[in-house]
Amino acid sequence: MPSARHILIVNARNVNQPVFVIGAPHSGIDLIGRTLKAAPGFHLTIGQPSVLRVVYAFARRPSMHQGRSEAAAAVLRDAFGQAWQISPASCLECSRDCRAAAGFGTDTVGPCVDQRGLERYGDASPDLIYCAEALTAAFGDARIVQVIRDGRDVVASMLDDPSVMTWFRPSFVNTDTEFPNPFFGIETAEDLELWPSLSPAAKCAMRWRWSVRLAAWLHRELRSGQLKTVRYEHLLKHPRDAVSDLSEFIGVKLSHTLIPVRKAPSSRNLTIDQIAEIQKVAGEELRRLGYL
Ligand SMILES: [Zn+2]
Repeated sequence: MPSARHILIVNARNVNQPVFVIGAPHSGIDLIGRTLKAAPGFHLTIGQPSVLRVVYAFARRPSMHQGRSEAAAAVLRDAFGQAWQISPASCLECSRDCRAAAGFGTDTVGPCVDQRGLERYGDASPDLIYCAEALTAAFGDARIVQVIRDGRDVVASMLDDPSVMTWFRPSFVNTDTEFPNPFFGIETAEDLELWPSLSPAAKCAMRWRWSVRLAAWLHRELRSGQLKTVRYEHLLKHPRDAVSDLSEFIGVKLSHTLIPVRKAPSSRNLTIDQIAEIQKVAGEELRRLGYL
């Protein structure tokens, strides 16, 4: 990983050890995001326009950034420099999700955070996972929190979420121009050939599978102390332990009280056929993680 020192200054302070929360859709990024946002002195953003623009450019057209890691890193630093600014301009653009994560109603105005005493910054925007590599290049001291959840529950929740399923519409599919295609989890020629015939559940499973493979790659590439993997199931079952581990990793005292009590797994809504389709695509990863 590049170790070039680039110091980002936001609100007249150096940004140290920014925290980025990544994972497949519906893996529990929102739970970690809310928990970080509630910590005093922590400014966590979700879905700021400056960040989403870059995230989707990276996610949808990774080939544009390949071999240009310095330029990509600079673009990311700029995007976060803007997102983390507490100025009237950026606060007015504060996203619904960001305000909701702070516990504010969507009809309120003004900043989602108190500017006084801000010491740490982070982001938990959806699909940030597709920038994971560039994030670690952009911020040499970044702390990456990756959330992993049983792929069957993830797929069930994705199938229920129109904003996720929209990406599979023909007008958004760019599998013919972008290969490999991390966004759709297409890595090999075989994946590409198979893809058009896959069911929606199998297509979601492919996206989940890619996120799990990325986790293995990050483990190999990042220094120890830079990456923390959180299992969604462990977080809900043992919130106190899981959040205390996370506090130690990030170096900020966090509270476990925002983690909800355990719910029935979303995968109970899947049909037997859907479960079989998911296992056909991602059985190896489900087994490796102990979910099968
Ligand atoms: Zn905000």
